[in-house]
Amino acid sequence: MSGEINHPTISEEDVLRPTRVEVDLKVLAENFLKIKARTGTAMIMPVLKANAYGHGLVRVAKLMQELHADYLGVAVLEEGILLRRQGITTPILVLGGIWGNQIPHFVKYDLSITASSVGKLNQIEEVAQQMNRRARVHLKIDTGMERIGVHYYNAEKLLEASLNCKHVDIIGIYSHFASSDSSDLTFAKIQLERYLETVSFYDKHSVPSPIKHIANSGAILQMPEATLDLVRPGIMLYGVYPSQEVKHTIEVKPALSWKSLVVYFKIIKEGSTVSYGMKWQATHDVHAVTVPLGYGDGYLRSMSHKAEVLIRGKRYPVVGVISMDQIVVNIENDSAYNGDEVILIGSDGNSSITVEELAEWAGTIPYEILTNINTRVPRVYID
Ligand SMILES: *Cc1c(COP(=O)(O)O)cnc(C)c1O
Repeated sequence: MSGEINHPTISEEDVLRPTRVEVDLKVLAENFLKIKARTGTAMIMPVLKANAYGHGLVRVAKLMQELHADYLGVAVLEEGILLRRQGITTPILVLGGIWGNQIPHFVKYDLSITASSVGKLNQIEEVAQQMNRRARVHLKIDTGMERIGVHYYNAEKLLEASLNCKHVDIIGIYSHFASSDSSDLTFAKIQLERYLETVSFYDKHSVPSPIKHIANSGAILQMPEATLDLVRPGIMLYGVYPSQEVKHTIEVKPALSWKSLVVYFKIIKEGSTVSYGMKWQATHDVHAVTVPLGYGDGYLRSMSHKAEVLIRGKRYPVVGVISMDQIVVNIENDSAYNGDEVILIGSDGNSSITVEELAEWAGTIPYEILTNINTRVPRVYID
């Protein structure tokens, strides 16, 4: 196995765990370049929150920096600090709200702050002045998501206040879509209209506008008119589409595979039951293998009785409830040996298992499958 390891507790030499995530950096780079080709001269902010959607925050950030991403997006302060400590110099926007005493850390690590109110903006101004530094801010406009952001119909005061800041650079102004990945774009179009009306403030007052941005993956795929100055692709960067109904106007490929190895083979006798609660019973003698991963790794327990895996290019069902650290696979009359590769997500020959399938089995969305792959699973990077 070539590649490099990103795991909090182990180094490349001692990756003994058979369960691992493989990230193909070439595929990630190709996805990035395809998005860039489509969005023309607009800047691009790959979104790397939640451990880069499970792909490993630091390594993905390094790749994006090498590819000259204009900005990086993360969700929480700590993700930004980690990237700075690892030597990432690309501008970073923390997309979440701020609270408590976080502002000095933003300023110290040169992380851009999301500001949603005049009060917060004043606080930032004060801290920057005290530290004798400049703070960078992106204003957040709520156009219909109702999470953070000043309501579009109350935004003017914030925009006005932002013009008077002495120690704050207003770098950007942004909003977020609630349904840009839907087949019905009615509400997304209303949100875009509200946003454009809000930022028309700058033209009206003949002042230069900060960077305008609103497009997530859904909008990049379906609403070219929302490209504006910068786009914020998350899930599609990793080669996964944001919904089942979204149009595939840009072709991206999954960069992540999840693999393990057979560690035990046995015959389960007719009438025997497998795993906690004895929920699965063999109706005849079957061959079965045990694979060392479970919900403690993010292989969700809610996929029990539905999940399938690939061994030697063939699909087999996981039987019994998924436990914390182990699963059992029914291979019927086939044979398998210790050390045979087991694919949880990925392809083998003509067969493949996708993140979308796992999401379906678990009754959730691909985002949740990817971001739940625990840090206990080592990430291996393939060039
Ligand atoms: C997560 C997020 C994105 C990226 O969303 P995708 O659907 O993964 O493309 C963009 N902008 C903001 C504010 C986000 O929180």
